[in-house]
Amino acid sequence: MASLLLLYLLSFQLLASSLTTTVLAHSSPPNNKTCHCSPNEPCWPTPQEWSTLNTTLQGRLIPTTPIGTPCHHPFYNEPLCTTLQSTYTDPTTHFQTSSSPMAPFWANRSCDPFAAPATPCKTGTYVAYAVRVESVSDITATLAFVRAKNIRLVIRNTGHDYLGKSTGKAALALWMHHLRGFDVLDAYTSQAYTGKAVKIAAGMMSDEVSARAHAHGLTVVGGNCASIGLAGGYTQGGGLGLLTSRYGFGADQVLEWEVVRVDGGELVKATPRVNPDLYWALSGGGGGTFGIVVSMTVKAYPEERSAAANLSFSSSGVALDVFYGAVAAFQNCLPALSEAGGVAIYVVQGTVFALSPAMLPGGSKESLDALIEPALVKLRSLNMSYAYTSMESPSYHEAYHAMVSPSETAYFQIGSRVLPQHTLTENSHQLTQAIRKVNSYGAGVGGLSFQAPNPNKPTRRNSVNPKFRSSAVSVTVGTIWSNTDWDLNLANQELMTNVLIPAIDRVAPGWSTAYLNEVDHQEPEWQKVIYGDTYSRLLSLKTKFDPDHILWGRTAVGSEAKTETADGKLCRT
Ligand SMILES: Cc1cc2nc3c(=O)[nH]c(=O)nc-3n(C[C@H](O)[C@H](O)[C@H](O)COP(=O)(O)OP(=O)(O)OC[C@H]3O[C@@H](n4cnc5c(N)ncnc54)[C@H](O)[C@@H]3O)c2cc1C
Repeated sequence: MASLLLLYLLSFQLLASSLTTTVLAHSSPPNNKTCHCSPNEPCWPTPQEWSTLNTTLQGRLIPTTPIGTPCHHPFYNEPLCTTLQSTYTDPTTHFQTSSSPMAPFWANRSCDPFAAPATPCKTGTYVAYAVRVESVSDITATLAFVRAKNIRLVIRNTGHDYLGKSTGKAALALWMHHLRGFDVLDAYTSQAYTGKAVKIAAGMMSDEVSARAHAHGLTVVGGNCASIGLAGGYTQGGGLGLLTSRYGFGADQVLEWEVVRVDGGELVKATPRVNPDLYWALSGGGGGTFGIVVSMTVKAYPEERSAAANLSFSSSGVALDVFYGAVAAFQNCLPALSEAGGVAIYVVQGTVFALSPAMLPGGSKESLDALIEPALVKLRSLNMSYAYTSMESPSYHEAYHAMVSPSETAYFQIGSRVLPQHTLTENSHQLTQAIRKVNSYGAGVGGLSFQAPNPNKPTRRNSVNPKFRSSAVSVTVGTIWSNTDWDLNLANQELMTNVLIPAIDRVAPGWSTAYLNEVDHQEPEWQKVIYGDTYSRLLSLKTKFDPDHILWGRTAVGSEAKTETADGKLCRT
């Protein structure tokens, strides 16, 4: 059924592209350079100009048909619409399209599949066109076009971005998802690293890479969600996951980037020694900001046995004080787990606690059980029932697949804080109280506990916020998305910015640090909170590598140069 939907959308795309070739051209007056051009303006390229671009791209220019089209008249198709609604939280529904962002706020009700069929379906905040990138020349041709025509450019990989950085009204997207490639390099040698490595193309997703590496007896650092783009926003944004305590952040793994420069359209390599500034900025400074990544080469590790565990309990039948006492007991286990090279991913949603999973790469089931046991002892002493399962596999890949449920899309609005090490040792009580406060507003709290390897040896070899290296847990707050109540969604954003994130922030006064891929998009002090003291260098490198600010994203480095107007136009400030 999902592929039927794709066929349906494709037929619209073909129809639309044939229309662009048959409609008569109109003349284009000079572009207004203050804002990017919009379809209703004379500066917008003529159908003939789009058609010429499509010819240059050998037919890989895709006019957007919003994903919700079958849910609206005159194209209403009940079975397809019902399927779309029922699969809307499946990442596959979105990453196989050229335009749909997974976080529904950024679709901005443009063609809302949950709205009444009579409401209009508009392209709205979806990109206007996407280029299905299959080669570097597709990228250079697109860059030349957006420069010549003053069109907003967006880089889209999977569309996972919580901040909507891979969509944009009236934009032309470079859709990187179809750049495929995976190569094992048996003896990669550089000054910094000698050993196995893998080179992956920009469109490869986290679990695809893990599976391909597993087939070679290797492990590659990736995210918890199977479908995030490994060389896209994940690694460029820093990259957290179940292997963080064992091997470090995603960005720490990068040996080389291959990147098309925005300033000249040139394909260059960036390593710690070749174009070191570009390497430094791309490795942690954020996706969609410094260049268009075509591939990356990362460290690969020999597979090793891994243990994983899941735990759940609820407040059913016990007072809330007791429930949060059990949550606190669990969090007290985390420093030792991190110290042993493990990571825990857990959620506290009001009345329910779920650990899914704790992972101990390189460790045994017995070791992991022993690390979690103090929490189970506490649960038993509180007479609380719980479900605990643990296992051991010969590889991380198998343990991941045995114990991690498939991720859903961002069906909640988020904000986050990364908290320092002493939070879990000295401020554990305050953290639990803050979680309780957030839960009292109906919002959920997720934790990812970690300890960067060698926390006492801070490195400046990449642009991951240095505070991450002495942090202990990434705390994500989520308010549930409503398909029917837009005003509630807006109110929840204010709640996030003004109440929920400040509650978490108070756990570690003066620390105020957030993961750039999971930050509240309204974060008032985003430069300091996301990038810390790397911001000034990142900003000067943004000016060096993208002096015209062709790439723009909410809270991205240098984004002060442009702003979105109320109707979604991107303009110079
Ligand atoms: C359900 C879910 C689970 C997640 N789990 C994790 C997790 O476990 N760990 C973690 O660290 N993060 C996680 N994230 C956050 C995720 O890492 C970010 O959303 C990330 O930006 C996704 O990158 P992408 O390329 O897949 O997405 P996209 O939305 O396509 O792109 C994200 C950003 O990267 C840019 N970009 C994409 N490709 C390129 C390229 N080739 N060159 C230059 N810029 C590019 C885009 O312009 C955009 O700014 C999760 C997000 C979701 C929604």
